[in-house]
Amino acid sequence: MTHAEFAGLAAAHGFGKVYFLAPGKYELGENPHRLCADVPAEYPFASSVCCLVYPYLPFGPAERIPAYYLASNKAYFGMKALIAELQQLGIPAEKVEIPLKQALEEAGIGVELKTSLRAIPPFGTRIVLMTIAVGGIPPLRYDERIPSPCAVCRRCSEACPMGAPGENGLDLRKCMRLRMESADHPDDIRDNQVTFIGCEICQYACPMNANLLKDEPGEEARAAFDIRRLIAGSASAARALVGKNMTSNGKLTAEALAFAARDSLLPKEELEEAIREASASPFPAVRSAARYASGRIAESAEEN
Ligand code: SF4
Ligand code: SF4
Repeated sequence: MTHAEFAGLAAAHGFGKVYFLAPGKYELGENPHRLCADVPAEYPFASSVCCLVYPYLPFGPAERIPAYYLASNKAYFGMKALIAELQQLGIPAEKVEIPLKQALEEAGIGVELKTSLRAIPPFGTRIVLMTIAVGGIPPLRYDERIPSPCAVCRRCSEACPMGAPGENGLDLRKCMRLRMESADHPDDIRDNQVTFIGCEICQYACPMNANLLKDEPGEEARAAFDIRRLIAGSASAARALVGKNMTSNGKLTAEALAFAARDSLLPKEELEEAIREASASPFPAVRSAARYASGRIAESAEEN
């Protein structure tokens, strides 16, 4: 199979670009995500590690439905379908997880930004990256490094409510995106969170994304992320759209309750009833969100 034929197969699953990287060895140090440190040893059939780029369009900046997580779920299933297709064609292919930022930096592809996100033109940072080890297709050389715009730009620093991007890069202890992996969020995140599951605020501000069009969530996503539905604990439809890994232990219900209280999305009596029910939830995150929501009601009563 040629590189172009491979890219054509990948495009049918939504991947806008494919990079064919040399299988590498990496110094990993602490390795909590169990990345592969030695591709040639662990995937001896691999002639390339294919980095699949799944581009997506952002929604509006006030949208609570997370464009990234909808896309990452589609990209995951697109990758699985591509692997199955390759295997049917007799081409050895397996999912592999490597330290991708390091691999792309070494290969000279795109640019790492102050937000620790990678931008790959013309998609900006609005990409999901997947990697598969593949046999029979040689790696290619790239010269697509672009100069970092970050030295003369402060837009993400000005946009970030947590003060996370600074002159020396991203403060990992402050960034919401990196502190939202568990279901239960601290109150400073509940005060500032815009989208379910993650944070995309700096990506709206970043000039690397300035030329991207905006999309709208479809009806299915709107129905699945209905605030009342999530507060009632019916999160299975939303979890099917964004993936189950990042949404366990009542996470979406807890987030919906915090949004409803902070942004006055429900009448007071309805919210109070939801808080009573959430206070008895088996999930600590939902009980914690109920406490936060009660505090919000008390604060607005004091203000009035
Ligand atoms: S992801 Fe959110 S919290 Fe993190 S740097 Fe960007 S705007 Fe700030
Ligand atoms: S907003 Fe500016 S400083 Fe921040 S990541 Fe984008 S280009 Fe870099």
